[in-house]
Amino acid sequence: MSKQRVLSGMRPTGKLHLGHLVGALDNWRQMQEEYDCFFFAADWHALTTEYAETDIIRDSIREMMIDWLSVGISPEKSVLFIQSRIKEHAELHLLLSMITPVPWLERVPTYKEQQQELTNRDLSTYGFLGYPLLQTADIIIYKAHKVPVGIDQVPHVELSREVARRFNFFYGPVFPVPDPLLTEVPKLLGIDGRKMSKSYDNAIFISDPPEEVRRKTSAMFTDPNRIRKSDPGNPDICNVFSFHKVYSDPETVIRVNRECRQASLGCVEDKKNLAETLVCYLAPLQEVRERFLRNPRLVEEILEDGCQRARSVAARTMEEVRAAMKI
Ligand code: SF4
Repeated sequence: MSKQRVLSGMRPTGKLHLGHLVGALDNWRQMQEEYDCFFFAADWHALTTEYAETDIIRDSIREMMIDWLSVGISPEKSVLFIQSRIKEHAELHLLLSMITPVPWLERVPTYKEQQQELTNRDLSTYGFLGYPLLQTADIIIYKAHKVPVGIDQVPHVELSREVARRFNFFYGPVFPVPDPLLTEVPKLLGIDGRKMSKSYDNAIFISDPPEEVRRKTSAMFTDPNRIRKSDPGNPDICNVFSFHKVYSDPETVIRVNRECRQASLGCVEDKKNLAETLVCYLAPLQEVRERFLRNPRLVEEILEDGCQRARSVAARTMEEVRAAMKI
């Protein structure tokens, strides 16, 4: 039986951090074993908010791809490509825009939320309103069965499902209706306790050298109620402990949990131990990363091969779409 197809993308925002790793890439790496995976750099999506500052997008794609490759996203197992090199996405987006009622887009929760949050940009643009429809085109052009998402992204997949159904209703059954693949991911906050993000300057990057990892880990916020080492701590509200749960072995997690509560383990010592765990975890990834960094041609070849494979699938779908729409 052929594998079900999964599609997922990531906006190119430069080098990736541990939040990206636990939030998406660890999951992608596992899905490669079970599904026919298509993963893409969503550079047109980056334009929906970053249209005024496009300088870094191209370099960011390369950085991001090298990070993907270094954490085990494999061009032998998955199709890795760049959205803007597959022009068929734009054609399908345009055709879908003809049948998509504007209120469907206006009611996607992130439309209003991001307009309120990103007040330093004018997001009253046509492209920003339509980006969930571009996402729909990204998904259904590959006839993806599943789209891995967190709970907040479910309304986007819901829109894709409605649009696919509407197209099939008007023109015949061209598209499978995609399902969300809900993924539970551990929550790792930035070193200051806010969401991990490059723009907050609180992220530990996959490419951070050991000294940087140690410096950042030592600056991590801990249980705010633990002032002195003699105060018993509460690991449940400590971000350092969240990192232990992801990166330390089970015995260490049990020990830290116990000794923190008994006040026999100090935060300075615990953070030092965590830093060494992170350094060891990142070392082999960084070795692979270095190899790709030294060989930009290989990265370009991988991308070109992935783009060709994606393009041939997208082109076949578009032939069906044009035939169904009689254009
Ligand atoms: S000992 Fe570790 S888990 Fe406990 S509060 Fe300090 S840093 Fe957090």
